[in-house]
Amino acid sequence: MDKNRRDFLKAGGILTAAAATMPSVFTTSTAFAQQPSPIGRRGTDKHTLPGLNYAYDALEPYIDAKTMELHHSKHHQGYVDGLNKAEAELRKARASGDYSLVQHWSRKVAFNGGGHYLHTLFWATMAPPGKGGGGEPKGVLARNINEDFGSFKAFKEHFSAAAKSVEGSGWGVLHVRLSDHKLIVLQVENHQKLSPWGVAPILDIDVWEHAYYLKYQNKRGEFIDAWWNVVNWDQVEKNYLTAIKG
Ligand code: MN
Repeated sequence: MDKNRRDFLKAGGILTAAAATMPSVFTTSTAFAQQPSPIGRRGTDKHTLPGLNYAYDALEPYIDAKTMELHHSKHHQGYVDGLNKAEAELRKARASGDYSLVQHWSRKVAFNGGGHYLHTLFWATMAPPGKGGGGEPKGVLARNINEDFGSFKAFKEHFSAAAKSVEGSGWGVLHVRLSDHKLIVLQVENHQKLSPWGVAPILDIDVWEHAYYLKYQNKRGEFIDAWWNVVNWDQVEKNYLTAIKG
């Protein structure tokens, strides 16, 4: 992991205090950009599932409660567990000097660490429709979206097209490139492939089937079109400002 990305991870994140059995009401409202890292802090070896700022049914009708519950408490928890396991195995390898499985566990760190990070960002950049979710960005983020994409409409079409056409399981992600602070849209395959490095994700959508199949079945495009109604633009702008502050 490069320094810029590590610093962003340190700066980003939402509260990591959720218990394994998650009630419908979570932690108090916390900002992704202002909270401890979702990836854990130095001095701790354990990653934990972050809480949400809203109930599982709060994003309806666009994202259904059952999908949210399974996605957060089962799928995301699985990536947290997978990351903890992989890092524990690498600690064992260092202790024993047996590196025969270092390739396997390194891959698991990338896959599960990517999953943990992108899901944490996904939850934090959504809010209930009409209560922080939906609408359009404002302020400096809006201005720079216009500058880098031509218009908000063009950005939205570009982002939607990228997310809809991810091959297999993956993500659509809006990033800031740290070298010049340009906004760029990229696809991610799985949780960790296709990154050019030196970029900080500030908004993402999960397009794995587990993110939408219960409600939308095979209609990924309808899910993506609906998701715009729950995007938390205030949070995206906070993420943007945090990223460009360096
Ligand atoms: Mn997912």
